Amino acid sequence: MKTEGALLWEPGTNSGWSVEEIELDPPKADEVLIKLAASGLCHSDAHLDTGDIPLPWAPVLGGHEGAGVVVEAGAEVHGLAPGDHVVTTFLPSCGRCRWCASGVSSLCDVGAGVLGGRAPDGTNRIHARGKPVGAMSFLGTFAPYVVAPSTSVIRIGKDIPLEKAALIGCGVPTGWGSAVHAAGTEVGDTVVVVGTGGVGINAVQGARMAGAANIVAVDPVPFKREMAEQLGATHSVPDFDGAGAVVRELTGGVMADRVILTASVGLGELVGPCGLLTRKGGTLVVTSAAPALQGQVDLNLLDFVMSGKRLQGALYGNCNARVDVPKLLDLYRAGELHLDELVTRTYRLEEINQGFRDMDEGRNLRGVIVYD
Ligand SMILES: [Zn+2]
Ligand SMILES: [Zn+2]
Repeated sequence: MKTEGALLWEPGTNSGWSVEEIELDPPKADEVLIKLAASGLCHSDAHLDTGDIPLPWAPVLGGHEGAGVVVEAGAEVHGLAPGDHVVTTFLPSCGRCRWCASGVSSLCDVGAGVLGGRAPDGTNRIHARGKPVGAMSFLGTFAPYVVAPSTSVIRIGKDIPLEKAALIGCGVPTGWGSAVHAAGTEVGDTVVVVGTGGVGINAVQGARMAGAANIVAVDPVPFKREMAEQLGATHSVPDFDGAGAVVRELTGGVMADRVILTASVGLGELVGPCGLLTRKGGTLVVTSAAPALQGQVDLNLLDFVMSGKRLQGALYGNCNARVDVPKLLDLYRAGELHLDELVTRTYRLEEINQGFRDMDEGRNLRGVIVYD
C-alpha cells in the first residue's frame, strides 16, 4: 500500500525528517499490519538524526512508540487479530532465546538487531524513491500504518486511550523500570533522578510507587521540575550542586540509596557527579543513551570501589514487556500511573520537525504524533 512516512536520508547530520510517500508491503506470516492512532516522539529517534546512535545504513523510517488497531494478521500470528488494540514495543521479545526464557527479555537476542535496518527475517517491508527503507526498531511508527513482527506487538484493553497508550511502548517502561527493576528501589529510600524528561519523569513515578520516602528531581528546565513535583518528586533542583545540598540534608550526609541517570544524552562527565550523590553500597543506574563513540567516563573509581557502590546499566528499564506493559496499564486504570499528564503537545506527522525542536528546547515531556 502507499502511505506516507518520516524518513532520515542522511542519519547523523541533523538534517531533520522528510515526510514523503512510502510503499508498505503486506505483512508476512508472523507479522501484523497496524493502523496507528499515535506515535510518541522519543529521544532515541532524535539520536539517529544527531548521530549519537550512528546508523551505517539509510534511509530510515523513524518512530517506535506506537499504538493503534490491528488491520491484518499473518497466518502464523497467534493471539492477535484484526480489531485488537495494541502497542508496539521498541524491543521485541522472541520468547525463545536464553534471555527471554530466563525472564530478561530486555536483552532478547532478536532485539539486538533492532538497529540493523532490516526486519528480523533480513528483508525490508518499506520502500521509498525506489529504495529499501530500514525501520527504527523493526517498526517505523512515523507513518500512519506499520507492518510489525508479532514479537514487537502487545495487545491492550480497548478502554485505554491509544494516544496515551503509545507512551507505554518505550518511554514509560524505560523510566519506571529504571527505578523499580534496575535500581531496585525499596520502601523508605532516597532516590535521585537526574533529568526528568520523557523517561526520567517515569523514573520519578516508579520510585514513588516503589515507596521511596524522598525523590529528588534534578533538571535545569523549570517546567520539568514542576512536572516532576506534580508526579511524585518531593524535592526538585536545577543542578548537581543543589542536589548534593538537598540529599546531604535529607540523609544526614549518608547520601542517596539510588541515583538514576536519565539525562537526554548520557555524557561521561555526568557519571562522576551522580556517583558522589550515591551512598555507600548504593546503586547508580545509567539509562541515558550515550554517544556511541564515547569511551571516557569521569568517575572517582577509588571512591566507588572503597564504598562498595554499584554501577548498573539499564535497557528498557530492565522490563519484561509482556509482563510490565499490562501491569503499567493496570496501574494507569488504578490512577497510580499518570499518562495523561505526560503528553504535553500533539502534532500532525507533517509537524514532526517542530515536535523534535520542542523536545530539544525542553518544552515537552512527550510530544505525540496523532493520525486520523
Ligand atoms: Zn524510545
Ligand atoms: Zn528473545
